[in-house]
Amino acid sequence: MLLDEVFERLDEKKDRIIEIRRYLHEHPELSFEEEETAKYISDFYADVPVDHVETDFGGQRGIVVTINGAKSGKTIAIRADFDALPIKEETGLPFASKNEGVMHACGHDGHTAYMLVLAETLAEFKDRLQGTVRVIHQPAEEMPPGGAIGMIEAGVLDGAEAILGIHVMSNMETGKVYYRSGNTQTGRSYFKLVVQGKGGHGSSPHLANDAVVAASSFVMNLQTIVSRRINPFDAATVTIGNLDGKGTFNVIKDSVTIEGDIRAMSDETREIVEREVRAFTEGLERSFRVTCDLEYKNDYPVLYNNPEVTEQVRQSLDRAQIPEVDAVLETPPQPPSEDFAYYLQKVPGCFFYVGAAPETGEAYPHHHPKFNIDEKSLIISAKSMAAAVLSYCDGSENE
Ligand code: MN
Repeated sequence: MLLDEVFERLDEKKDRIIEIRRYLHEHPELSFEEEETAKYISDFYADVPVDHVETDFGGQRGIVVTINGAKSGKTIAIRADFDALPIKEETGLPFASKNEGVMHACGHDGHTAYMLVLAETLAEFKDRLQGTVRVIHQPAEEMPPGGAIGMIEAGVLDGAEAILGIHVMSNMETGKVYYRSGNTQTGRSYFKLVVQGKGGHGSSPHLANDAVVAASSFVMNLQTIVSRRINPFDAATVTIGNLDGKGTFNVIKDSVTIEGDIRAMSDETREIVEREVRAFTEGLERSFRVTCDLEYKNDYPVLYNNPEVTEQVRQSLDRAQIPEVDAVLETPPQPPSEDFAYYLQKVPGCFFYVGAAPETGEAYPHHHPKFNIDEKSLIISAKSMAAAVLSYCDGSENE
């Protein structure tokens, strides 16, 4: 079987995946600044028998690689992101970041490493492949508006019938692969509210209009959105991450700026939260006679996995019997937001998870200065994606 031969080749390149991951880990770059990483990726393909490599895709640093199978068939897109985070690494690993204050703390180094070697391997077998595989190396997942939007606008999904993506997860057990159908990761919104009152002296509040009191009332009112307006079986979070109330103890502040983060598990819930934030803002102006300037932005959408494609992925993983995988399981919804959701608004697809909890020691969460993954998750990612892609392209999910 072709898949077994692909697995054999991937096994031969297991150490190389790890080498690439460690190199990328040592040289992380921030979202929208990934110049060297993009060059590393395009250089990798110099001697690889893929059919087409397009760099600077959509005016960003994306790289899109085409592998045409000898037999015609479906076109499937597979995506790996490659940006890092503004975090000072504290892992103490021998291959820790050499770029002070920047760290691959979400595993995107691993995504890129497995994807490069998988693409190379699929290209080596293209005489026996059916359909077309489009490999999307995407920059800037971590920072809104995100790299996905620009690549979609530039046509990265044109002609693609489905898209697949993997995230390695430090909070999921290594050796297990997880999937979920339907709404799977939260959509995210951001708001900034400037509350404008009138400054004054602490001894004479009646001559001023205290922005701190108005802003405090707003923060407390917001807590009732989730508790009183959202169906208890739906999920949302409303977090005020910034409240700029710093001043002098006896001076009444004339203005306060508040910034907040909203997550919701469905578009409907997302709309309710926005409606309520706007209503409380209007109410604040009337109750406190302040003026409010509200900026409210929806960014990453709710990530929706297409049920049919997800079922195909699940079946392909079950059939593949990947030796390093002991179970393929359904996962509960995942709280973080992810810009892969934009692709899924355009074409059906599935974003699934490969367990990567370190074998020993504590499993630190994503975006933590001590975040690390079990590198065994990388060969598992490569094999899982290979199984899903081959199954999708040759239509064997229907057998
Ligand atoms: Mn990530």
